[in-house]
Amino acid sequence: MVPIYYIQLEDKNIDEGHNSNNLAGLDSNFKGKKEVLVFSNHATEIKDKYASSGVKTTIYQNENFSVTNLPDVTNTLRKIFVDKANSLIVFDKSNLGNSLGSQLAAVLNVPFIYNAKDICCDQDHIIVNQDIGKTQALRKVTLDDKAVISLSCNGVVSHSKNEVDIIDWECAGTNAAAYVPEANSDNDLAYAKVIVAGGKGLGSPDKFKPLATLAQKLNASVGATKAVTDQGWIDKNRMIGISNLSVAPDVYYAFGISGAVQHTAGMTKSKCVIAVNTDEAAPIFKLANYGIVGDANQVIKQLNELL
Ligand SMILES: Cc1cc2nc3c(=O)[nH]c(=O)nc-3n(C[C@H](O)[C@H](O)[C@H](O)COP(=O)(O)OP(=O)(O)OC[C@H]3O[C@@H](n4cnc5c(N)ncnc54)[C@H](O)[C@@H]3O)c2cc1C
Repeated sequence: MVPIYYIQLEDKNIDEGHNSNNLAGLDSNFKGKKEVLVFSNHATEIKDKYASSGVKTTIYQNENFSVTNLPDVTNTLRKIFVDKANSLIVFDKSNLGNSLGSQLAAVLNVPFIYNAKDICCDQDHIIVNQDIGKTQALRKVTLDDKAVISLSCNGVVSHSKNEVDIIDWECAGTNAAAYVPEANSDNDLAYAKVIVAGGKGLGSPDKFKPLATLAQKLNASVGATKAVTDQGWIDKNRMIGISNLSVAPDVYYAFGISGAVQHTAGMTKSKCVIAVNTDEAAPIFKLANYGIVGDANQVIKQLNELL
């Protein structure tokens, strides 16, 4: 069965939760061999995190590494994979993941499948379900050989122990321009540790501005329900639930969200849920760790004043 190599970038100068430096294990129908390759400038600090990912990990350590060294990473990956027949090289769907993935696919001269939702394998083929743009349709792509893939789904971290090897690699560090994280990339929501999500109860699109301010103060990412993305109050890629993203943050704030099952299916893996709703019978309170019965806009305003 074809192995999957999952590529991660770990730059200590970038906040966790906003880029491709969070491990998302591959929890798919894919039962083949999985391995994580990490490019890093602080291997010792991150070793433990990868040691409990359940997936064999190799950390390529060089203290000069920064995520602006993408050509060095591409070159090293090319050397690793050029002679490996039949392997899938997988990146997060972040700006970094996509740009590295497309560069690597070009130098290896293999297909680049963007936005994959799931990867399965039968005896002879690899089948990738690919999200098509912002529609909810899926395209099934069948592959016979090596390919580069970026994932649209949020992975699940396993907690079993595994090996982590640290090896040195050559990284010239020549492209050391400052990296400015893309605050609103899709990935910052998929992998965020804190999410402030707004629903129809916020009342109008302009209420997403104070919510965005709160997100900045909490180093959080903004999520939303389908009811508001359908109205165009906020971009559809912010939608959490069965029709788009599943998330698993440490803290999930639900402001003015009723808690419909199609929404909660995408956020039940949150470690702590804090809900604000005017209706004390709202279903969201059934899964909330903390609940406030009240006006969400007032609570957001007060939090913004306090923080
Ligand atoms: C096939 C299908 C797929 C779907 N997929 C998704 C999906 O992926 N994601 C998703 O989110 N939904 C999805 N939905 C829609 C889902 O069923 C709900 O309609 C939607 O989640 C409701 O969004 P909401 O909670 O923002 O709005 P509402 O259900 O309208 O709830 C608004 C809540 O705000 C409260 N409220 C009102 N005023 C205030 C205030 N001032 N302060 C605080 N609270 C207030 C109300 O009491 C209410 O509980 C799907 C539906 C279908 C049929």
